[in-house]
Amino acid sequence: MAQTIYAIGIGSNRRGRHGGPADEVRAAMAALGDVVAASPIIASAPLGPSIRRFANAAVLIASDAAPPDVLARLKRIEAAFGRRRGRRWGARVIDLDILLWSGGTWRTRRLVVPHAALAQRAFVLTPLAAIAPGWRVPRRGRTIRQLAHMVDRARARP
Ligand code: ATP
Ligand code: MG
Ligand code: MG
Repeated sequence: MAQTIYAIGIGSNRRGRHGGPADEVRAAMAALGDVVAASPIIASAPLGPSIRRFANAAVLIASDAAPPDVLARLKRIEAAFGRRRGRRWGARVIDLDILLWSGGTWRTRRLVVPHAALAQRAFVLTPLAAIAPGWRVPRRGRTIRQLAHMVDRARARP
């Protein structure tokens, strides 16, 4: 059994060969393999220039691969699902991001873990809180549950 765990964020706002966004998210969970926990799939509002609703989820996978190798694997799955490189935040069949790594932090030009926008995104924190509420986020010193509550309160503010 692998010694390290990755939390992976999954998002889709476009139909692909598996069906609608929620079907694409489910298919991505299957493609990832070694999934030790999977969140429910939630629907969330569009982000940036895209007008389509997203399906979002999070999974925990067990893997001893180094973070850059995991990222390369995620990108291969994205390509296999028909994702085109292009506008960030545009319509995409699938987006797979590394949210957390039990090994701690990673910081290069191509890869930042924990994911840079983790603490600002309810659509990431809400599913992640369903499977890893007690995971303490490096350098923030707060758990996923706490960050999810904080982002909810920020949204509720007028
Ligand atoms: P966002 O990162 O804001 O969620 P995005 O997921 O739409 O945006 P992508 O087009 O999927 O952005 O990826 C852009 C680049 O982000 C990738 O090529 C990758 O090198 C880099 N990147 C940096 N940190 C991460 C991470 N933790 N997980 C995935 N990609 C990352
Ligand atoms: Mg993303
Ligand atoms: Mg991405």
